[in-house]
Amino acid sequence: MQFRDLKQQYQVLKKDIDRALLDVAASSAYIMGSQVKELERQLAAYVGVKHCISCANGTDALTLALKVWGIGSGDAVFVPDFTFFSSAEVVSFEGATPVFVDVDKDTFNIDTCDLEENIRQVLAEGKLTPKVIIAVDLFGLPANYPEIRRIAEQYGLPVLEDGAQGFGGAINGRRNCSFGDISTTSFFPAKPLGCYGDGGAVFTDNDEWAALADSLRVHGKGSFKYDNVRIGMNSRLDTMQAAVLQVKLKAFADYELDAVNEAARKYDERLAGKVKTPVIPAGFLSSWAQYTIQLGSREERDRMQAALKGAGIPSMVYYPTPMHSQTAYRELGYPENSCPIARQLCDTVLSLPMHPYLTTEDIDAVCNAIQSNL
Ligand SMILES: *Cc1c(COP(=O)(O)O)cnc(C)c1O
Repeated sequence: MQFRDLKQQYQVLKKDIDRALLDVAASSAYIMGSQVKELERQLAAYVGVKHCISCANGTDALTLALKVWGIGSGDAVFVPDFTFFSSAEVVSFEGATPVFVDVDKDTFNIDTCDLEENIRQVLAEGKLTPKVIIAVDLFGLPANYPEIRRIAEQYGLPVLEDGAQGFGGAINGRRNCSFGDISTTSFFPAKPLGCYGDGGAVFTDNDEWAALADSLRVHGKGSFKYDNVRIGMNSRLDTMQAAVLQVKLKAFADYELDAVNEAARKYDERLAGKVKTPVIPAGFLSSWAQYTIQLGSREERDRMQAALKGAGIPSMVYYPTPMHSQTAYRELGYPENSCPIARQLCDTVLSLPMHPYLTTEDIDAVCNAIQSNL
């Protein structure tokens, strides 16, 4: 059994993907070919925002957003403590300071009470200037945007939605990557919408920010390529990746997003009352980058993972370490007992195989193995 079966997906989409790749090979428009612009239009339409600016990966997408807003030294950026390293790394890379916020024990997403508490604390201390709230759609589930927006407005802070894992998720029909003043996603192969290498995108309704991101991704270009009006990056999406994504976006919208939600329902049914299953608030839709259960303790979790491995079932621990405990962030001096929920989750979470081509037999096998090892 595969944790995320990209080979099976390729077999299903092979005809269209092969043709799309060969078309690019024959066209020789390997950089910024017409597929890139077409894909950007399709992604913006799917998400429901005015602009999509594709780029080299999800980390660069976050960096582009921070550069658009001129974030740097002396700035505080609020980031959930339970996420992939990139969400905070980009902040530090720009010279700003990440402020780690605890998460909700049910949704895994940023805890809005602790967010407000941290904003107040940074203001009271007066050393850093609060500048941005980064909310992550962890495992595919949108963060609590109604409440995040209220806090953002109260403190005059823009929201950066890190939708790297969230593409396709929604709240009451409004899709992820539309909730931030700027939102980003990643097309890393294992993400809900993945390409065949690295890729990412920035989304915004703001014309000025979109133009700035477009300039920054190509060496700060001005009126043309060899007119450089600012310091930028080399962060384009390859035409080959755009061509693959056009095929995969169609499958994603037509049936893959439904298929992962169906798989999640089957897991829920079989695991309810046995282990803690993911909580999806009313009106929220997840794109199931991960299906993550919680066990009672680190020992129970590690024992379960070993037992599943013995039964030939892959599982993953996303994530084993809270951000504030990462070696790279030791210098920030967070006490060990900061963000207790994030720490608890690092000890107890276990992500199960999840992808659109998972069969009912696979799900039964996973759930039976869990049941017999409780
Ligand atoms: C994967 C991921 C990123 C980074 O995306 P890359 O394309 O790998 O650079 C950023 N944030 C989160 C939450 C992610 O899961």
